Amino acid sequence: MDPDKELLLRLAQTDPSGLGREEREHLALLSRQVLEQPLIMVNSTTSGMVAGAGETWRAVEHYLEERNIGAEIRETGSIGLLSEEPVLSVQLPGRTRLFFRRVTADRVPALLDDIFHMVIPAELVIGQLPGNRQETWSDIRNLDNIPFFALQSRIVLEHCGIIDPFSLAEYVGRGGYSAFLSVIRRYTFSEVCNLVIRSGLRGRSGGGFPTGLKWKTAADTPSDQKYLICNAEESDPGAFTDRYLMEGNPFQLLEGIAIAAYAIGSNRAYIYIRSELKDSVKRIDHAIRELRNFGLLGDNILDSGYNLQISLRKGPGAFVCGEETALIASLEGRRGMPAPKPPYPTATGYLGRPTVVNNVETLSNLPGIIRKGPDWFRSIGQKDCPGTKIFSISGRSRITGLVEVPMGTTFDVIVNKITGGVERGRELKAVHVGGPLGYMIPPALMDLEITYENLKKHQLGMGSGGILVLDDRTCVVNMVRYFTAYVDKQSCGKCIPCREGTRRMAEVMERICSRPADEPDQSALDRFRGVLEMESLSGVMKDTSLCGLGQNAPNPVMSSLKYFREEYEAHVFDRVCPSNICTQLRSWFIDVDLCTGCSICAKRCPAEAIIGTPRHPYFIVQEKCIGCGICYEVCKFSAVYYK
Ligand code: SF4
Ligand code: SF4
Ligand code: SF4
Repeated sequence: MDPDKELLLRLAQTDPSGLGREEREHLALLSRQVLEQPLIMVNSTTSGMVAGAGETWRAVEHYLEERNIGAEIRETGSIGLLSEEPVLSVQLPGRTRLFFRRVTADRVPALLDDIFHMVIPAELVIGQLPGNRQETWSDIRNLDNIPFFALQSRIVLEHCGIIDPFSLAEYVGRGGYSAFLSVIRRYTFSEVCNLVIRSGLRGRSGGGFPTGLKWKTAADTPSDQKYLICNAEESDPGAFTDRYLMEGNPFQLLEGIAIAAYAIGSNRAYIYIRSELKDSVKRIDHAIRELRNFGLLGDNILDSGYNLQISLRKGPGAFVCGEETALIASLEGRRGMPAPKPPYPTATGYLGRPTVVNNVETLSNLPGIIRKGPDWFRSIGQKDCPGTKIFSISGRSRITGLVEVPMGTTFDVIVNKITGGVERGRELKAVHVGGPLGYMIPPALMDLEITYENLKKHQLGMGSGGILVLDDRTCVVNMVRYFTAYVDKQSCGKCIPCREGTRRMAEVMERICSRPADEPDQSALDRFRGVLEMESLSGVMKDTSLCGLGQNAPNPVMSSLKYFREEYEAHVFDRVCPSNICTQLRSWFIDVDLCTGCSICAKRCPAEAIIGTPRHPYFIVQEKCIGCGICYEVCKFSAVYYK
């Protein structure tokens, strides 16, 4: 066997202190914890590439070639600061690693010139990552002391943005695979279930069901075959946790899958992923091949007698396929539609066999729990809700990205302290948590501690952890209109309450935010009736829809009606959008001093609401205007304005 491979496998099965001094040093080199030449790492995940990391990479290559400098360039994941991409890190031999923000290609030569002359550009540096036997840079803050990281507990995200996701050596060099190998060597299936039950880990996809109990049901169901499915569908458009876990540390996920599969007595696991997540697919695919090559997947893994195959299955990316029975149907080659429960998949799942479906974040927690023990996990977060939760922060937040905090952290800490709140001069209006099926939460509830139970007490939830930050420029009603329209399109149509309920909600919201040309005089009453109808529909949908999509579809409407009722009243009765976002509720005018009488707006107006004589100022008849804004877009003289 290749000696490097043998050394890594020995490490995974023993404590580093069990290795000789030379072996430890060789291992430190293999896992890039000790360097012989400078190391430059570029975040090549989706956020980095969108911000230009590909060009940054080429600029680094060009710089090194041109100056004939011997240095290694590697890909890495994201450290979570998505709004600071492209993030690049540089480590010189013997020194701590430095992280830099917004390193576009044009900034590369000056930045590397500075670093190779031991000068750190203050405007670009984020901080340094302390490491063993590494000299620190003076006057540079440790990452842990920066507000964005200081209040986080990065246990699942720990290595994202630090290691090369294509290097098994880097993962193993930091303790990777020791959990799985100790599981298959030291524990029975049920002992692993019990360990995870003791840890208190709960599913991170929103429901918060205890993971170990779910496993136990499947483990205790007699069958010739059992399946473990990793739900990597992440269909909520506002959540990107799973994507960055897969792109930043695929081996951690695969180790978690292997532990879960072993615990339920399964030797067949699938990762169900949206085909459009190409970077995740690439990294997971590579990691599976690497594990097979090392003998950490396949038959008789390291002579333990345990066999495990993991396969990737790409799905079309339907929102409803995030629901476990729909996912299983899609995996079986059928249309992705939910099925009634019971029977639960843990009894009758994929191909009619006991099946456990866990999501990426849940599974990525497992290696740490096994390695450090259930008591360690219980020491983080809350008694009834231990561990951490990763939130994807987007919207009008000063910093957008991934944040991992102990359960029980408040929204205030996440939104105002870690990600810096909204822009200076603006006010926080709401946070929307949990995507299109989520909840609109007002600033008054920012001190709410985030646990499954606590949110439930307030009729709220965390969904898969997407937090959309909204400032005073946002129209809550319009945002909810968008969610209802989205969910209406995603309903699979199998059951009437969801199919008809989501359609009706979308229609009512559309009517509230728009001004049809044929709007009758009594329409305010119709709109008000529509709101009342949504309130009563909501109860029916929650009680009678077959799956979570229909049951949770009313959440944005009901939470916003509860906390932002006055905004609805302004739209419904006054026909005014207080944030001036609903274009159709704007009143449009023509400035007679600027209008040249070119007549273009009158020709393009769909409601024939603009009248006038060519070469003289035109005029908008308010009673006929439907507020489409076309005149504003086509006027070349900036003569059209709105109030
Ligand atoms: S609740 Fe909606 S998405 Fe779920 S099965 Fe019924 S129609 Fe389909
Ligand atoms: S397009 Fe502008 S300038 Fe031309 S008639 Fe309309 S308002 Fe006047
Ligand atoms: S906004 Fe302008 S183009 Fe649209 S209906 Fe009113 S006047 Fe006509």
